[in-house]
Amino acid sequence: MNCIFCNNENEATSVEHIIPESFGNKKYLMTRSSVCDSCNAKFSKFERKALSNSVFVFERARLGIKSKKGKNVKGKVEDLEVEGNKEFKKQLITVKGLDSKSVENYDKENGTLQMIVSSFDKSEEAGAKLILKMGIEALYTSDFNLYNNLDINEARDYLLAKNTKDWPVIISDYEPSKFKSIPKMGVKYELGIKQIKLEYLQLNENVLLIRFTFGGVTMMVNILNRDTNWITEFKTNDSLTQIYPKHYRDKI
Ligand SMILES: [Zn+2]
Repeated sequence: MNCIFCNNENEATSVEHIIPESFGNKKYLMTRSSVCDSCNAKFSKFERKALSNSVFVFERARLGIKSKKGKNVKGKVEDLEVEGNKEFKKQLITVKGLDSKSVENYDKENGTLQMIVSSFDKSEEAGAKLILKMGIEALYTSDFNLYNNLDINEARDYLLAKNTKDWPVIISDYEPSKFKSIPKMGVKYELGIKQIKLEYLQLNENVLLIRFTFGGVTMMVNILNRDTNWITEFKTNDSLTQIYPKHYRDKI
C-alpha cells in the first residue's frame, strides 16, 4: 500500500492514531500501511509538542486523561509546569511557576483567581500541523469521496517539511454555518465521551475548515491553503478570536 502523505509503498509496523492516543482516542485508527512508519515518526514529534506545550495540556490534565504510558499528564507552557492528578481525578490541575504576572484578581472571599495562560508556547506550528494531519486522515477514513476531490498538496508538503512557511490557525467560537462531524456514528459517539470533536465546513472552493474541539478548546485551520481572507469574518463576529502565529494578525 502507498502512504497517503509521501506516496511511498510500505508495510508499516506502527499503528497510526487519527487523533492522538494521548487525547484518549483508542479506536479511531488509520488502516495499516496507509501511513508509513517514517511519516508516523515525523508526526509524533509535532504531536508531542502540541500535546505538552500548548493549551491542550491544561485540558488533558483537567479531564484526567492518561498519557500513552498510562501516567498522569505532564507538560510545560511558557514558565508554567502543568500536571494532572496522579489518580486521574478530573478538574484537578497542579501548576508550578505561577507569579504575579500570571495570576490576577485573587478573591479571598470566593477563593477564586484568574490565571493568565498563553495558548501556545512556541508551539503554534505543532498545533497547526496536528489539526491538518488529523483532518486529512479523518477525511480519508470517514469521507473518502470528499477527500478524493480535495487538493491538499500544500498541506501535505507542509507536514512533510517540504515547505516550512507558517500555516495560520485560529481559536474562535464563531460558527458561520453548521460544522459537520467527520467521524461517523459509533466513532463520533466514542470520541464525544472523551469530549473530542473533529468537524469540517466548506466555505468556498478555496476554504475548507477543519475544526478540532477538545474539552473547552476549539481550534481550526483551512486545510486547502494558507489564505487568510476567511479569518476576517471570524474576528468580526467573535472579538475574542485568536490568530496564530502572531504575524498573521497584522494582515487581517
Ligand atoms: Zn509516508
